[in-house]
Amino acid sequence: MIPLPAFTDNYIWMLHDAHHAVVVDPGDAQPVLEALRTLGLQLSAILVTHHHPDHVGGVDALRDATGARVYGPARERIPQPLVGLNGGDRCEVLGFTFEVIDVPGHTAGHIAYFHQPAAGDMRLDGLPLLFCGDTLFSGGCGRLFEGTPAQMLASLDTLAALPAATRVCCTHEYTLANLKFARTVEPGNAELAAYSQQCESLRADGHPTLPSNLALELQINPFLRSRQASVVQAVQGHDPQANGETGVFAALRQWKNEFR
Ligand code: ZN
Ligand code: FE
Repeated sequence: MIPLPAFTDNYIWMLHDAHHAVVVDPGDAQPVLEALRTLGLQLSAILVTHHHPDHVGGVDALRDATGARVYGPARERIPQPLVGLNGGDRCEVLGFTFEVIDVPGHTAGHIAYFHQPAAGDMRLDGLPLLFCGDTLFSGGCGRLFEGTPAQMLASLDTLAALPAATRVCCTHEYTLANLKFARTVEPGNAELAAYSQQCESLRADGHPTLPSNLALELQINPFLRSRQASVVQAVQGHDPQANGETGVFAALRQWKNEFR
């Protein structure tokens, strides 16, 4: 997997087999066309997670230039023609089978793509792979533009239940800002402190902090830890009205919205 930087903080993930490539959420065609040219690849498919312009802006140009087949959420307005997908569907790209997972919250019809390699298939180091768009970020989660806190919490629970070794390919390099907030919520989390340092030096050297993996996110991401006593306590210290699993999660998301 190669993260192609786009705009100020997007990544367009590219997966290839040395001949053909698939890209996820191409908000801009230019970085994709350049990578295809440089690496001598033919684009065979485009996967889209949700309808926001920074994820679909390059779809038409790439389809026109390469004839790639486009897959995306059936319930959202994505540039047509498109193979519309719903949760539970499967799609085959580059010989990889991706399972479609409904993850409403950031948008109403947001989907994620999950690949579980068959036993002995070492093409991706044998590790499961997740393209989660703007649902899960390293150390954070997407803003709730169209969905409810209950929906986002359920979506994150679904992702959190995937295998711990799953590689998590998020669409934005928001990690440092997310971790600053996470440290405010959990100042006593030693894994979080260590991961923050690691990410600071990656960024200082101009490297992406992604992909992440689920095992790590479960230790450091407050939005996957909203039932942990440390997080509940911090949220209630910030907003004494916050109560119940959904209420605490909603207050945590609101706190992040206002955090600078
Ligand atoms: Zn978005
Ligand atoms: Fe986005």
